[in-house]
Amino acid sequence: MNELTSLSVAEMRSGLLSKQFSCVELVDAHLSRIEATNEVLNSFITISSELARSAAQNADSVIAQSGEESPPLTGIPVAVKDMLVTEGIETTCASQILKGFIPPYQCTAVSRMCKRGAVIVGKTNLDEFAMGASNENSSFGPVRNPWDTKRVPGGSSGGSAAAVSAGQAPLALGTDTGGSIRQPASLTGIVGLKPTYGRVSRFGAVAFASSLDQIGPFARSVEDLAVLLQAIAGKDERDSTSVDEPVPNYSEAIAKGENEALSKLRVGVPKEYFIDGMDPAVEDSVRKSLGVLEKLGATLVDVSLPHTELAIPTYYILNPAEASSNLARYDGVRYGLREPADSLQEMYARTRAKGFGPEVKRRIMIGTYVLSAGYYDAYYLKAQQIRTLIINDFKAAFANDCDVIAAPVSPSTAFAIGEKADSPLQMYLADVFTCPINLAGLPGMSVPCGSDADGLPIGLQFIGKPFDESTLLRCGHAFFKQSSFDIRSMARKQATEFAI
Ligand code: GLN
Repeated sequence: MNELTSLSVAEMRSGLLSKQFSCVELVDAHLSRIEATNEVLNSFITISSELARSAAQNADSVIAQSGEESPPLTGIPVAVKDMLVTEGIETTCASQILKGFIPPYQCTAVSRMCKRGAVIVGKTNLDEFAMGASNENSSFGPVRNPWDTKRVPGGSSGGSAAAVSAGQAPLALGTDTGGSIRQPASLTGIVGLKPTYGRVSRFGAVAFASSLDQIGPFARSVEDLAVLLQAIAGKDERDSTSVDEPVPNYSEAIAKGENEALSKLRVGVPKEYFIDGMDPAVEDSVRKSLGVLEKLGATLVDVSLPHTELAIPTYYILNPAEASSNLARYDGVRYGLREPADSLQEMYARTRAKGFGPEVKRRIMIGTYVLSAGYYDAYYLKAQQIRTLIINDFKAAFANDCDVIAAPVSPSTAFAIGEKADSPLQMYLADVFTCPINLAGLPGMSVPCGSDADGLPIGLQFIGKPFDESTLLRCGHAFFKQSSFDIRSMARKQATEFAI
C-alpha cells in the first residue's frame, strides 16, 4: 500500500480538508493500487475509472466551496459489490446470465452514500448471485485472499473484503444473506457489519433470499465503518421492508465506548458456538478476546441458544426456496443473456442452462423441490417453524441474560482455493456461526481479533438486539483499540507478501 491507500477515512477527510491532497489524487492513488493488484486478487469485475475521476473532480469543487460543511464521505473511494445495481455501470452478480446488463436505476444504499460524496471505484467480485462462502462460485474466477493468494477471501462478498483489506478502497459495500459480509471480513482481517433486517434499504440489491438479505459496510476500523453505515441506514419509501426506526449517531456511540469502556455491559457467550471440529486457533483467539472484553469492564454470561444446530438445515431449505422463486425472473427476455431457440420454452431453458453456474442451478433445484406440492409441508413449512424457534432462542437470551452476544464468525481461517470446492456440504458448514443471525434478522459484526500460526486473520463476532447496531460498534471499537491485533502492521506484511 502507498501512503494514501493505507489511511483511515478520518485521515483521508482531514487530508482533503487541509488540502494536503485532492480528491482526484486520492481516487487516482486507489485506482493505481487497483490496477497494480487486481490481476492477482481478481477482486473487481468492473473498474469504473472514468466515472470515478469525474466524481472526484466534482468532489474537489464541493470541498473548495463548502470545506468542513461538505458531506462526510466527499471524495472517499468506495468499492461496491456487484450484487447492487448501479446506474450506468454494468451489474453482473458474477453471473453470465446478466452479462451486459446496465441498470437504468441506482440502488438506494449506493445513491445515499454518493449523495454524501462517496466515489464509486468499481464493482467487486462475488460468488454468483451471492451463493457461496469462498468466492469460487464466481463466473469471473475466484478472488484471492491478500494475506495468502493461494487461499480464498471468504464469500460471497469476497471481492469487497479483499479490496478493503488490500488497500484498493478504504470502504466497501457488501450483502449478507447467511454470513457474506462477516465471514469474508473475518478471513481478510477487516471489519464487516450485517445490519438488522430492515435497517438498510434493499432497493436495488439484487434479490437472493428476500427474508434474509441485508446490505452492509466493510472497513479497516470500526470508526470508518460507522461513517458508511450512517450514510446508508434508514427508512426508504422504495423498500417496504425497511423500518422507520430512528438512526442514532453512530460515531457518538463509538465515543461512548471510549469514555465508559464496557462497564455494566453483559456479554453473552453461547456454548453452542464452541463446537467440535472448529479450528483450535479460532477457539483460542475468541476465548482470549472474551478476556479482553472482561478487562474492559464487561460481564461475561453463559447463554444457551439450543436450536443452533438446526440453523444450517433450516437456512439451506429457506434460502434455496426463496432463491428459486427470485431467480425465476432471469428468463432471457428481460435482462442480459438470451440464447436463440425455436420456441419460447426452449429459449428459457437454453438461456438458463447456459447462463447459470452449478451452485445456482443446485439452489434452484433444491428450492423448487422443497416448495413443490407434497414436499412443502415436510420441508418449507417445517423450516419456517424451526426458524421461529431459533428467533425465540435469541429473544430469550436478550430478554433474560445479556445485552450483546460474542461468538466466533467462521469455524476456520481462510482455506485453500479448491479445498472445499467439490463438496457443497462442506462449504455450507462455513455458515454455522453466521446464518442463525440472518434467520433471526439480528445485527452482527466481525472484528479482527487475532491470527493463526500461518498469520491468517481471525474474526470475533458481536451479535446485537434488533436495531442496536450502536452497541455492536461500541463493543467492537473498544475491543479493537484494546486488542493486540494490529491490522496496520499486519497490512504492511501483507503488501510485501504479494510483492506490490
Ligand atoms: N454462504 C452462504 C450461502 O451460500 C451465505 C451467502 C450470503 O450471505 N450471501 O448462502
